[in-house]
Amino acid sequence: MIKIAQQLKALISTPKKIVITTHRGPDGDAMGSSLGLFHLLKQLGHTVNVITPNEYANFLHWLPGNKEVIIYEGNEAATDEITAESDLIFLLDFSDLSRIAPFNNAVSKSKATKIMIDHHQDPDRDIAKLIFSDTKACSTAQLVYEVMDAMGMTNYLNKSIAECLYVGIMTDTGSFKYSSTTAKTHNIIAELITAGAENDKIHDLIYDNSSANRIKLLGYCLNKKLRLYPENNAAIISLTADELKRFKFKKGDTEGLVNYALSIEGINFATFIAEKDGMVKLSLRSKGNLKVNEIAGKYFSGGGHINASGGVSQVSVDETIKITEGIINKLNN
Ligand code: 5GP
Ligand code: MN
Repeated sequence: MIKIAQQLKALISTPKKIVITTHRGPDGDAMGSSLGLFHLLKQLGHTVNVITPNEYANFLHWLPGNKEVIIYEGNEAATDEITAESDLIFLLDFSDLSRIAPFNNAVSKSKATKIMIDHHQDPDRDIAKLIFSDTKACSTAQLVYEVMDAMGMTNYLNKSIAECLYVGIMTDTGSFKYSSTTAKTHNIIAELITAGAENDKIHDLIYDNSSANRIKLLGYCLNKKLRLYPENNAAIISLTADELKRFKFKKGDTEGLVNYALSIEGINFATFIAEKDGMVKLSLRSKGNLKVNEIAGKYFSGGGHINASGGVSQVSVDETIKITEGIINKLNN
């Protein structure tokens, strides 16, 4: 880390045109790590643009710097130009360019030096010159802090950086409860609170700010759409596009829903299947040694972490449920 951090420090020692990008369907860690780094690089005098492949949940729109984020979808020409002209491109919270499609073409074509900061399994080492990859790290936001620290730049920590990184760490650790949460994580959180992150305000803005429709959708899923497979310690929740429409679905409304299935006694494999944007998306979660990233990779062209992964299905919701039931039947055998 220290050696690569020194190389990065040299790269950012003079003003540069910088793009920061993160994965499709950006979550709290994607946006928190990207905007945290954005606020650091701005202070250092760089021209910085955060570009996301598509929109993200409303509960992240209060993040400092949100107004300056450019969304690739709908701004393709301008974004392609900024990307082509950039000197440095930071790839945050993903390890494989397919995760930023269709923005990946512009990134691949750009001659900019690429820097990856990420915690996903099996990073594609060909896509970046400098790679900060730690698959044990709880979040990319924690890695951004560690990179700052390794560059001797924690003196630049301010309220904006602290709030953004706090959100990234909090959301990717399930509020500091997953096994990836370490003493180091808590030490970093202490630094972020000291620098101005208001933990109670942030928890409220992220978790206690739902629309009534979101809560009603949650109730519907748990009451009507939960399938349990107790013999295999598994559960599935599914939603069709029509059902989402009925509850006036907005991006982010189903975030965390899969965890309710996983919170049931005896359940250690939970799948959430939803038909969104003309695709069938899956969220896979597990407890213990069951590697859902392998399941996501094998059956759903996806990936992620050992206990939290995602992917897509090319068939209908009903057929995807059948495929998942086939996977469930093979569990524990
Ligand atoms: P979520 O279920 O919250 O959408 O995603 C959980 C984890 O799986 C995240 O770490 C995310 O990066 C990863 N993931 C989600 N969807 C995909 C996908 O389509 N492809 C890959 N490779 N990873 C995904
Ligand atoms: Mn992450």
